[in-house]
Amino acid sequence: MKFEILTMKLSVINTGFFKLDGGAMFGVVPQQMWKKLNPPDENNMCTWSMRCLLVETGNRKILIDTGMGNKQGEKFRQHFEPHGEDSLVGSVRNLGLSPEEITDVFITHMHFDHVGGAVKRDHKDKFVPTFPDATYWSNQAHYDWAYTPNARERASFLHENFVPLKEANRLKMIDIEEGVEFLPDFNIRFAYGHTEAMMLPQIKVNNKTVIFCADLFPSIGHIRLPYIKSYDLRPLDTLKEKGILHEEAIENDYILYFGHDPIHQCATLKRDERGRIVLDKTMTLAEALIDFIPK
Ligand SMILES: [Zn+2]
Repeated sequence: MKFEILTMKLSVINTGFFKLDGGAMFGVVPQQMWKKLNPPDENNMCTWSMRCLLVETGNRKILIDTGMGNKQGEKFRQHFEPHGEDSLVGSVRNLGLSPEEITDVFITHMHFDHVGGAVKRDHKDKFVPTFPDATYWSNQAHYDWAYTPNARERASFLHENFVPLKEANRLKMIDIEEGVEFLPDFNIRFAYGHTEAMMLPQIKVNNKTVIFCADLFPSIGHIRLPYIKSYDLRPLDTLKEKGILHEEAIENDYILYFGHDPIHQCATLKRDERGRIVLDKTMTLAEALIDFIPK
């Protein structure tokens, strides 16, 4: 009899930084308080990372989110100031992989800073999937929402970032069912506060659970309950979703993985002396998982 043991390997994929208005990112929290968490520039803009994650298991190489990519024009670049040494494909190559080797691209939601890298311009200036052999994953409710955006989210949902995936027949839809299994030890949480049916991967590596927080907890500055972005569609739902994940994270020692924190990759939570759930420790992904690296 043959036993196959699947091991899960996680790697950070940095795709660079961009800027968003600090006030919009912290909602009702006064600048006096949030500016300590992410110091703004003279235009009140804060720097955020676009940190993705690669999951390797069995013969699958699954990229979670893609950053904003590099196909936008000068006006867009002036507005969001993308910068930094890292790029999506560059970081994939740094791990010794070619774009053709990526089997799956999991898109938490279709806001440009998460899906922009999924599509590139080819040599004829046509929009094509960046990872030519990958299956791209979304869900129908979110796709429909992104395809016909409301006026508040319109600037974040750009058709060129995701319609070409559908046209190339590369897009598949995940069933919307809380906790649904995407792969063994890779389940999906759904959140509705930030945008419609955003998906948060929950990944078990040996005895640890890593939550890819997407835009539910974009950075360590968003751990406290009232620190909710003005961009969110339904802020009170975000509040509820944060509270639920808070309690679960404390109970089960979850590792939170941040897409937008400019410095910190991961953190754990604790209860403070007043009973509130707050940041415990920050760490790199490697530090978070180090107990399980075979000696
Ligand atoms: Zn978003």
